[in-house]
Amino acid sequence: MRMSQETYSDRDRSFALAKRAHDLIRDYGPSATPRAYAVWYAYVSGELPLLGDAVKRLTTQSGSLTDADIDDLHETYLDGRQLTSAAGDISRGMLDEIAAVTEILDLSLGSTAQYGEALRGLAQDLMQEGMPTRARLGEIVSTLVSTTREVAVNNRVLEARMRETRCEIETLREKLEASRLESLTDALTGLSNRKHFEETLKATVEAARTSATPMSLIVLDIDFFKRFNDLYGHLTGDQVLRLVAIVMRENAGKQALLARFGGEEFGIVLPGADRALARQVAETVRASVMGRELVKRSTGESLGKVTVSLGIAVLHASDSPASLLERADLCMFAAKRAGRNRVVDDAAESLSQVA
Ligand code: GH3
Ligand code: MG
Ligand code: MG
Repeated sequence: MRMSQETYSDRDRSFALAKRAHDLIRDYGPSATPRAYAVWYAYVSGELPLLGDAVKRLTTQSGSLTDADIDDLHETYLDGRQLTSAAGDISRGMLDEIAAVTEILDLSLGSTAQYGEALRGLAQDLMQEGMPTRARLGEIVSTLVSTTREVAVNNRVLEARMRETRCEIETLREKLEASRLESLTDALTGLSNRKHFEETLKATVEAARTSATPMSLIVLDIDFFKRFNDLYGHLTGDQVLRLVAIVMRENAGKQALLARFGGEEFGIVLPGADRALARQVAETVRASVMGRELVKRSTGESLGKVTVSLGIAVLHASDSPASLLERADLCMFAAKRAGRNRVVDDAAESLSQVA
């Protein structure tokens, strides 16, 4: 059997990750159980930034991981069962409500049909009996009145139950919406996560194509962030990530989709933005981040300033979402090489710096 190049490199990557996970278990513990292995493997794969943050926090605090830490990490970040059961509860609730509505509709149809049946019976009796007597007319009218009253009572009960059911469906709808939003959000900064970023990027590229309007993508990376973390600790580093998110929110405009798609890497999708507008947004964000003095709230200690480097790619006719992202990334690296704290876009004159 022939294996493709890709299969080999995937396999090599898996082996390399497994080896790193193994080394980390040896260095940080607790013991080589399948759960510990799964946590460390996920950590080195870098695919779960929140898990990465938590592991870094724990190891910085105590220098190693315990079995209880592994259980917590596994449950919070790897064990899909929690999410599935939350989603299961909601859909089960929804199914129960749908069953209740169906039952109410059945009842309602049933009572309407009975009413119709009663009226038809009376009409038939009248036809067969010919001219009714006064007494017979009285009987018919009182039957009509009592049947109608019964239906009215029934309808009121049905209406109340219907209202209740509507309320519950509304609550479930809100819960579903909240859990959908949660699955698209980065918990640390409140910006979109990688999944939402990728979906929006794809949709924005398609919309720009269809409407023949421009769009741009900015990639932002914090400068010397490792040094900052090493100096002040990971938790303070996290505050910087939040600050960058706030500055982005303040300056990117309403149309922009803002995401943290890697540990300290952010994306700004700008529908409708040409190069000039994208540069303006990127410059404003860059200058505003640099303009913020970081002060540790607990001690009043000044932590100086951080800067960011930004790359901009403007959509071409031949771009895919991936090629656009790759170009923005290359431009961001060019900004790093050119001295950091700057913006590089993919215009012809800057491309020499990108190459
Ligand atoms: P450069 O200017 O070249 O980007 O240097 P850098 O140090 O920022 O880049 P590098 O990629 O070497 O390091 C990125 C660091 O970002 C590594 C890690 O300490 C930090 N980091 C990544 N994710 C998080 C996070 O979620 N929280 C915190 N506090 N730090 C993070
Ligand atoms: Mg980086
Ligand atoms: Mg960086």
